[in-house]
Order: sequence, then C-alpha cells, then structure tokens
Amino acid sequence: MEFNIVIVGGGTAGWMTAALLSKLFFRGHSVTLVESEEIGTIGVGEATIPGIKDYNRLAGIDLTEMIRATQATFKLGIEFVDWRAPGSSYIHGFGKIGTDLMWLHPHQLWLKLKAMGKARHFDDYALNCLAARQNKFCFPDPRNPGSPIGHIDYAYHFDASLYARFLRSRAEAQGVARIEGRIVAVKQRPEDGFVDHVVLADGRTIAGDLFVDCSGMRALLLGQTLGVGYEDWSRWLLCDRALAVPCERVAPLTPYTRSTAHDAGWQWRIPLQHRTGNGHVYASALIDDDTAARTLIDNLDGRPLGDPRPVSFRPGKRHKAWEKNVVGIGLSSGFLEPLESTSIHLIQTAILRLVALFPGRGFDDADIAEYNRQHHFEFDDVRDFIIAHYKVTQRSGTPFWDHVRTMDVPDSLAERLELFRASARFFVHGKAELFREESWVQVLLGQGMDMTYDPMVDMFPEEDVVEFMNDIAETNAEVAAAMPTHEAFIERHCRAP
Ligand code: FAD
Repeated sequence: MEFNIVIVGGGTAGWMTAALLSKLFFRGHSVTLVESEEIGTIGVGEATIPGIKDYNRLAGIDLTEMIRATQATFKLGIEFVDWRAPGSSYIHGFGKIGTDLMWLHPHQLWLKLKAMGKARHFDDYALNCLAARQNKFCFPDPRNPGSPIGHIDYAYHFDASLYARFLRSRAEAQGVARIEGRIVAVKQRPEDGFVDHVVLADGRTIAGDLFVDCSGMRALLLGQTLGVGYEDWSRWLLCDRALAVPCERVAPLTPYTRSTAHDAGWQWRIPLQHRTGNGHVYASALIDDDTAARTLIDNLDGRPLGDPRPVSFRPGKRHKAWEKNVVGIGLSSGFLEPLESTSIHLIQTAILRLVALFPGRGFDDADIAEYNRQHHFEFDDVRDFIIAHYKVTQRSGTPFWDHVRTMDVPDSLAERLELFRASARFFVHGKAELFREESWVQVLLGQGMDMTYDPMVDMFPEEDVVEFMNDIAETNAEVAAAMPTHEAFIERHCRAP
C-alpha cells in the first residue's frame, strides 16, 4: 500500500522527519510538508547528544557539509557549574571512563582511592572530560581500540535555524513537496475519526493517509483535533519558561555545553562558530521575567546580539504519541527541559520507531500500541535522569532548590538512587535506556551524592588499585596533550576551502 505522508510543521522535528523518510522510503510513499512562515518555529534546540551521528549516517548526511552549513562545533559533554553547590563544577562527558578492573568499573576504584585520599580529579580518568577541560578535540580512532583515543564520543552544537534549512534543502532534493500556508482546520473522516485532510487559510486542502504532527507545542492534530491528553510533570520539574539570547563568541571555542545553576533554574551556553547561544531556564512562579533576564545578561561572556526571547513550556508527555493515523514527533509529543539536550534525540528515535512500525498494509492496533509503549519508556527514562540532577544536590537557601532537593521523586528513580547510594552499583533496565552507567555515574558523583564503593574492591591490594588508576590517568594525560585544540580541528577539517 502506498501512503501519502503529510508532515505538519517545518521546525527541527518536521524537517528531520522529512529528510529521513524521503531518504529511506525511496520508492512507493510520497512525503509532503506543510509549514507556516507566519507562525515560525521555536528556534532553539542547538545542542545534541552522540546518537545524532546515527541520524546523520542514515540520512546520508556528509558531516563536513553539515558542519559548514550550520556553523556547528563539536561537543564532548556538558559542564555543570554550581549545580552541586555554588563554586562547584563537573563534566558529564560522553564516552568511556577508563577501563574495568576485571568486573569492577573504574568509578568504584576511584571511590576507593578517594576514601584513601589518593584520588586525582575524576576528569583525569575520562578522556572526554579531560580533553573538554583543555579545549581539545579529535575524532575517535577506531584502529586503536586499546587506547582511550579509540573511545572518544561526541555530538554537535549547531544553529537550529541553519540546521532546519540544511535539512530542508536535502529533503526537497529527495522529492519532498513543501507547501507554505497556515492550517486553519483539520477534517476527520466521519466513520472512524481518522484525519482526512487539513485546510489552509487560503482554502487549499491537503489530504493524506498518514499525518505526522510536527506542529510543536500546539499539537494541532494529536492534541487539538484528536484530543490526546498531556501528562504534566511540573511537580518534579519546576522550570516552565526560558529566555534565549545569542551573544558574540569569545575565545577559546569550548567543545562542550555549559549549564550554570541559578537561584530558580539554570543557564545554558552553547558555543557555535559564529556566535554563542545562551538561555535561562527558570520556574516562572519563583522568579519574575525581569530578574530572569538580568541574570541571563549578567552571565553572558560576550556582547548580547539582541533582546532575550521568551519561550514558555510545560514539562510532560502526551498520553499517546500515535493515535489513529496521526503520529506526533517533536514538541507535539512531549517536552523535557534541555538540561541533557535530549529533545532532538527523542525526535530521531521517534522517526526510527515510525519507520520500524510503519503501517505498510494499513493501521494495526498492535503496531500503534508498541509505538506508544516505547514512547512512554523513553520519556520516563529521560525524565528520571533529569530529575536526578535536581534531587541530588547540596544547594539550599532558595525556594527552588529547597523544594527540588527535598521532593519525592518517581519510584523508578528513588530505587535507582538507593542502589547507587548503597555501593555505587548501577544496572541498566533495558536496551532502550538512553543514559548508560557512565552518564549516571558522572552526574551522581558530580552532584555530590554520598556513597560508598563496592566492597568487592577491597579484594584487590590497595597498591594495585592505585597503580591501575594511575596508569589510566597518565595515558589519558598523554593522549589529551597530543590532541589538537577544538578550534584548530575545525579549521583543519571543517572550514569551507
Ligand atoms: P517547532 O520548532 O515549534 O515547529 C513547529 C512547526 O509547526 C513550525 O514550522 C510551525 O510553523 C508549524 N505550525 C504550527 N502550527 C501551524 C499551523 N497552524 N499551520 C501550519 N504550520 C504550523 N532540544 C535539544 O535537543 N537540544 C537543545 O539544546 C534544546 N534546547 C531547547 C531550549 C528550549 C528553551 C526549548 C523550549 C527547547 C529546546 N530543545 C532542545 C527542544 C527543541 O527546540 C525542539 O525539540 C525542536 O526544535 C523541535 O521543535 P518542533 O519542530 O517540534 O517544533
């Protein structure tokens, strides 16, 4: 069965969907995208996580071309400043942390060294973090799996509007038809409520078999038309507003996102080649917009390029991401604050899930149920990781931090924190989990969680543990010293000739 696929919306979600579907479905189905320049896009969303490389590969995107077109930089992780307590800093780096000693993971050995007063800074054992601190970058060398250089992992920062433009040109070249216009009505079939067509302000109609709702927080089809409800998570995630402003870039070009905690939220800093993106994410019930704007501007490291732009949001997820013949991808399906840069990743996994469960012979309830099951798993999983940043902290003295530090968290997270607190042990709950042990370890240690190491470490002589960990740190130091600076790497590999 051939499908007319209609994508409603041309933000990052819409164009990512259009570019990938038109690449993968090279025969049979047609793809049309409707967007409204008058309404515009959310225009933020510039930091990614390593899975984006899989999207690029599948979509046939040439990396150098993308970096040039979107003024992109590389990202080795996120620095969290003042999150544990004012004055603190740690990095959640992508990639491996050292090597295991038999079955024992390096963070266990580090905790033992710490207890002995012989631990170096945790970053010294993780090449991604060490390189980030030194503003160094290079690609991993897969020919060298025995060296930490073989295990560097990275993502990108890019200009959101340039990224959408870049994807649009690819999608259109692959046959996607773009229609400019504002949708004023959505018409359903009387017999089963499936969406039949959308109506534009000028009277044109666009019919389809499958509609992908990428209309952003409006959720025009999934929410407004089909009435799929929204599960609100604001009891755990107090931030509901952001002010975004770019500023002039400053040297050096850091290969990481920075998140700095403030009294009622936090501020992002995303370095791009041509500017730095910044935003203050905050709880609007606890701080007014003027104070939030002043905090943002006072903490820029370059001259602001314009006035702060507000965006309001509600943390949570839709009760279903697929209902009848409508699949919601992007902000229409849910939103979690950008603390770990997960939204673009969730767009990507939603597209791949749609491809894997594509209704080729018609709509089957089993496919739809599985799609929605995975949607819930992913959102709940990311939610827990983000809440953990707030729950595990020593910050106090403002209503915001006093609330999040002492609040009850979802049971799934509470159990995980208890296990980790007992002996720093961590187990993944399923293949689809986005954040692995390395991520949880760095964040929970970085946030200052009080924990003891696995008692099994005591089976090894102390001097062996010291020597083992020293070797890791010394090798990392040598490798990082030989890496080029982030700026030099981009200059050499990614600038236009
Ligand atoms: P939008 O960009 O809002 O696009 C909606 C589209 O629908 C537009 O084209 C609009 O014109 C169209 N549309 C709507 N109504 C109609 C209509 N009636 N007729 C026709 N067209 C219509 N994600 C990350 O991964 N990393 C980050 O660093 C990050 N930072 C963020 C910071 C903030 C403050 C926020 C709020 C989000 C952030 N995100 C981030 C999330 C990211 O911005 C979004 O996931 C991403 O941009 C996708 O948005 P979208 O395409 O779903 O919606």
